[in-house]
Amino acid sequence: MHRPDMNEVVGRDDLLLLTLDTLRYDVAAELAAAGELPNLSACLPDGEWEKRHAPGNFTYAAHQAIFAGFLPTPATPGPHPRLFAARFAGSETTADGTFVFDSPDLVGALADRGYHTVCIGGVGFFNKQGALGNVLPGLFAESHWEPDFSVASPHSFEAQVSRAEKVVAELPVEQRLFLFLNASALHQPNWFHLPGATRETGDNRETHAAALRYIDRHVGRLFDAMRSRRRCFAIVCSDHGTAYGDDGYTGHRLGHESVWTVPYGHFFLESSA
Ligand SMILES: [Zn+2]
Repeated sequence: MHRPDMNEVVGRDDLLLLTLDTLRYDVAAELAAAGELPNLSACLPDGEWEKRHAPGNFTYAAHQAIFAGFLPTPATPGPHPRLFAARFAGSETTADGTFVFDSPDLVGALADRGYHTVCIGGVGFFNKQGALGNVLPGLFAESHWEPDFSVASPHSFEAQVSRAEKVVAELPVEQRLFLFLNASALHQPNWFHLPGATRETGDNRETHAAALRYIDRHVGRLFDAMRSRRRCFAIVCSDHGTAYGDDGYTGHRLGHESVWTVPYGHFFLESSA
């Protein structure tokens, strides 16, 4: 995957980080190959997801790592240069083109460079209810969460995208923006995204796939909002996968191929301004 010089991108372009929480690599790759993700495939390099390894096996661990500059790692022997990295001696994955920062996390580093930082939360670790639910949103200057954004809502992604559109529209045009959105639709429960499925039949690879098709139907609105002011560099990936009875495992926060392997893509959204 082409790796841009992030020292040129940061300060010039807006930034979007979209984590499709819990999305499995195999389901994402199958749908892209079948032409069932027209809006995502139109943006992904060669229309394909890159196979990567998650930096954690559940939301909190993976996002703490991602916000420290450890995006999912290409699933081939490395070392693999990173886009973002905190400065520390001996880092073997900091290279030309890596945006190196002195703060402990990327969000604060971008704020230091003049970005307005916005979190639109989805799963429970972003719900701002209780101390733990405030840790990740608390990294950002502005954070949003509503019950309608949560795993229980069949309309979560549409509601999240509508909030993103509102945030973008209200920002002064000269203000650089880093928008992070954690999409909750893939996370269990997701059976309601498949027509005919019921609570009793529950979640499985097919309902997971239906949830990804749902994301694809609405993601164009998010991309259009993010390209409406200036060029935007976008990263779309999963934080970890999940198991649906694979080798007897169900769920995540466990060490299984279905959890450690995630889809990843980054690309520019050219300005429509
Ligand atoms: Zn997650």
